Amino acid sequence: MATIFDKIIAREIPADVVFEDEHVLAFRDIHPQAPVHVLFIPKRAVPTLNDLGAGDELVVGRLAMAAAAYAKREGFAEDGYRVVMNCNGDGGQTVFHIHLHLLAGRPMAWPPG
Ligand code: 5GP
Repeated sequence: MATIFDKIIAREIPADVVFEDEHVLAFRDIHPQAPVHVLFIPKRAVPTLNDLGAGDELVVGRLAMAAAAYAKREGFAEDGYRVVMNCNGDGGQTVFHIHLHLLAGRPMAWPPG
């Protein structure tokens, strides 16, 4: 089922895109939870982490590597950051197109709430 992220990929609705390549799109979260809050999504829609299968290793790997490269480019890699992938109800997932949250610009509490 199409989600809001498919519409962002298709440029049917606007987003503040900060990175794009053949496989990955990254844009600022509309409700930022930190001074930096960017979502990294695969262009191929996969609803949840549970739906990944054999051969999909690169799907998540590309998101993580794009996020780390962004952190280095933007100059906060050494200070640190958090990446989060929420899955289904208890994980707090609300958009069913897998995405990696990159949060930075403030200290992050652990354990999370
Ligand atoms: P989840 O809760 O599924 O892990 O994260 C979904 C994220 O997508 C939320 O942080 C939410 O603020 C963000 N989001 C939902 N709709 C939009 C939108 O239309 N544009 C952008 N940029 N972010 C969105």
